[in-house]
Amino acid sequence: MPEHIWRPDKIYIDEAVADEKRVRQILARVPDVPKEATSEVKELTRRAASKENAFTEGKRALLLTRHKGKFLSVCPAFTDSAVCCTYRTINIVLGCNFDCSYCFLQAYLNNPLTTFYVNVEDMFSELRSLFDSNPEKTFRFGTGEFTDSVSLDHILGINQELIAFFAQYPNAVLELKTKSARVDSLLDLDHRGRTIIAWSVNTKFIQRTEEHKTATIEERIGAAKKCVETGYRVAFHFDPLILHEGWETGYRETVRLMREEINPESIAWISYGSLRFLSPLKQEAQKRFPATPIFSGEFVKGFDGKMRYFAPLRTRLYQTIHRYVQESFPLVTPYICMEPEHVWEKSLGLSDISSAWLTDTLDISAKALNGKE
Ligand code: SF4
Repeated sequence: MPEHIWRPDKIYIDEAVADEKRVRQILARVPDVPKEATSEVKELTRRAASKENAFTEGKRALLLTRHKGKFLSVCPAFTDSAVCCTYRTINIVLGCNFDCSYCFLQAYLNNPLTTFYVNVEDMFSELRSLFDSNPEKTFRFGTGEFTDSVSLDHILGINQELIAFFAQYPNAVLELKTKSARVDSLLDLDHRGRTIIAWSVNTKFIQRTEEHKTATIEERIGAAKKCVETGYRVAFHFDPLILHEGWETGYRETVRLMREEINPESIAWISYGSLRFLSPLKQEAQKRFPATPIFSGEFVKGFDGKMRYFAPLRTRLYQTIHRYVQESFPLVTPYICMEPEHVWEKSLGLSDISSAWLTDTLDISAKALNGKE
């Protein structure tokens, strides 16, 4: 199935932002989509959430409104019980047009509508103030925590501004995480090495059966190649690693495809994360994707309340993928997402590691990008 190209069926416009230039620009990109103004955003999202197919329907609608709180936060998965990379998030879009069976948003968001916070200047002033007041620190930010960072941008049009903004700051890096191959609008931008385009990758089988509407693995790697050819560095996230028949061959094949197409020196980092979920997600996902087998194995509740494979199985997954990655990309920085130190030690053979160490390691990789002016 080809990658889904998002076009909302309906756009809701918060009256408080109706006159903003950014809203007019978005509406001009989809002139024939029905629009509805509202002064009751809370009531609108409450009604949307109460529908039987709330999450599926919400993907087809766009809400343009104002963010009243802070745009910036640290990764919501942060906990003292795991080694954490201190990733920071810019929460400017909620929702995604793709439909992965394991997507945590299905059980996480109270508001199912794809939502874009148009008061982007407030976000930039938060970033400006953080970067200017901490010139000695390195910041790694991403926009892909609650959305796909690339697949909605032909309508929302924010990446060009974000990339230009980060290009001004030697102490910051923007990571755009995606399962899309639609990168052409990013290729000519003056990023000065301060944006990394990152792909979540998996086996071809998992892409086909669980990551609905996304670009194929070959298309994602092809898009990464295009980005590298135009001077970007890229990253790959094997996340979530999923046990399934033929998983070893499947993951080896994905690493092989990456090796064939991508110059190792252009890869900033490669991460691994095994399937993890809070219990309510399993219920919601099985309702929406009754044929998915991925939640039917045995799982244990971990330090953060999330269900994961037993530690020996996770270790086997990490050891295996790490071996493949090391064979092809021995000099690329690897890391594991949200696992305690003992899992790192058994999986990657690294001891005495900590969140501070991982943060410094990734900051050094990030700073290396900043040399690419
Ligand atoms: S690409 Fe990410 S945000 Fe989008 S549906 Fe898949 S897991 Fe969810």
